Amino acid sequence: MAEQNKLEKIVALCKRRGFIFPGSEIYGGLRGTWDYGPLGTELKFNLKQSWWEYMVHNRENVFGMNASILMNPKVWEASGHVESFTDPLIECKTCNERFRADKSEDIREHEEAHAKKKEKIEWTEPKQFNILVEAKLGVVEGEKTTVFLRGEITQGVHVNFKNIIDSMHPKIPFGLAQIGKAFRNEITPRNFIFRSREFEQMELQTYVKPDESIATDMFNEMKELRLNWYLGLGMNKDKLRFREHEPDERAHYARAAWDIEYETPWGWDEAEGIHHRGDWDLSRHAQFSGQDLSYLDPETNERFVPWVIETSAGVERPLLYFLLDAYCEEKDPTKDGASRIVLKLHPKLAPYKVAVFPLLKNKPELVEKAREIYKELKKHFNVAWDDRGNIGKRYFSQDEIGTPYCVTVDFDTLEKEGDTVTIRDRDTMKQERISVSELKSFIQKSLEQ
Ligand code: ATP
Repeated sequence: MAEQNKLEKIVALCKRRGFIFPGSEIYGGLRGTWDYGPLGTELKFNLKQSWWEYMVHNRENVFGMNASILMNPKVWEASGHVESFTDPLIECKTCNERFRADKSEDIREHEEAHAKKKEKIEWTEPKQFNILVEAKLGVVEGEKTTVFLRGEITQGVHVNFKNIIDSMHPKIPFGLAQIGKAFRNEITPRNFIFRSREFEQMELQTYVKPDESIATDMFNEMKELRLNWYLGLGMNKDKLRFREHEPDERAHYARAAWDIEYETPWGWDEAEGIHHRGDWDLSRHAQFSGQDLSYLDPETNERFVPWVIETSAGVERPLLYFLLDAYCEEKDPTKDGASRIVLKLHPKLAPYKVAVFPLLKNKPELVEKAREIYKELKKHFNVAWDDRGNIGKRYFSQDEIGTPYCVTVDFDTLEKEGDTVTIRDRDTMKQERISVSELKSFIQKSLEQ
């Protein structure tokens, strides 16, 4: 399967099966926005939950935060975003389409498209374009305040540093984690959900003593931790790599920056970044707000402004990469020559953990037993129910949305002695009989791997 083709197939599957739809589609859409349907919502929720468990609950001295999207506009002056949150913009003089000057792939594609039509192309000089999204707040026309929809979720954490210190008394090093929406007026939203104008981020800000060796150790620990999150959810390790930013590529706040990249159909591209932000954020907010944002170390009695090591991931990019990694087209050995589409998602990410079917729809005793099992499992997992068509079609349908197990209730299930069902594994397509009472722990185990 050609790789670019794979992206198109995933876009089509996401629409067909209720994962992701183009935003505001019935009105012709809104560029760079996407709406999540029932299965996409579950997948996204599972991804965020896995991140939260791994980065917050499983670790010590890490706390959660949830700040407002709308913030006092001074925040963005202090953080440097009003001045420096820019991308270089160039415009094609032939058709007036605008591009990011630092995305050579997009530019080459555009030049090739004109060349095919034997058109000459000339570009304007690059100019810096600020990608903060503005909104107006207030109730009196003409007196409304211009605010920004946050361009990154980071600042909501740093402006609450003092509140956290005063309420939680954390011991350094400690982390503050947040998941939430961010908005960027991207010049060229593209590659499905890879680059959108509205997206979510999952970030951990770790505050350390201002010491280069401590910061380097924390930086390396975070690199390893983040890579292992992807591997733990079954991502192919050959498709992942680290890349260090060139000094002229780093964001205005970063002293060091590495990306985790995935090999996408359009080449290696960013999944997330690990950044050494130094004392940039706290010092700037202290300066602009006039508040003391230093930390008093209770062990040494030293007072200092901590440094920050940040891990900053989007939600949509990893989500897309997990879909790309999981998507397979295979021959189904149980049917001559037939092929199946299967999303080999880790059970933790899969929208449904299991599907329950009665073998036949028109046998009330089978349906009743299957409903009983379905309802019992639903207390613990998100479970699908399907009684349409034949069993083969139901398997096909569940494979395509990544459901790891299908349980079928047949006549043997009704035997008093037996009380067993068949459980079919999505990846191996093998079926085994297990007792109904074992189902919960069987599925639970797959979630703990
Ligand atoms: P790029 O260079 O691709 O524009 P960036 O380096 O500016 O991205 P960061 O500011 O480091 O991105 O943001 C952290 C993470 O947030 C990114 O690694 C990515 O996962 C996600 N992200 C950033 N911009 C977008 C976007 N427009 N759409 C979807 N996710 C995004």
